[in-house]
Amino acid sequence: MEMGSDKNIETISPEGEIYTCPACGYKDGFHVSFKMIPGTVKAEIYLICPNCHSRFRLGWQVSLSPTDA
Ligand SMILES: [Zn+2]
Repeated sequence: MEMGSDKNIETISPEGEIYTCPACGYKDGFHVSFKMIPGTVKAEIYLICPNCHSRFRLGWQVSLSPTDA
């Protein structure tokens, strides 16, 4: 799976407890990756299913700058 590609990225509704992959039903939670937002010190958090490797975005953004926490 090529990082940085926007294809095959689904969204998950942020409700309840988020640990089940909607694509394959895997129930032990997700890996986390951060995709930098160009021109900023912020990144968007992506969730990656460890089982089927589907990627999901929830619109979560974090600052990765230690001086801009
Ligand atoms: Zn999955």
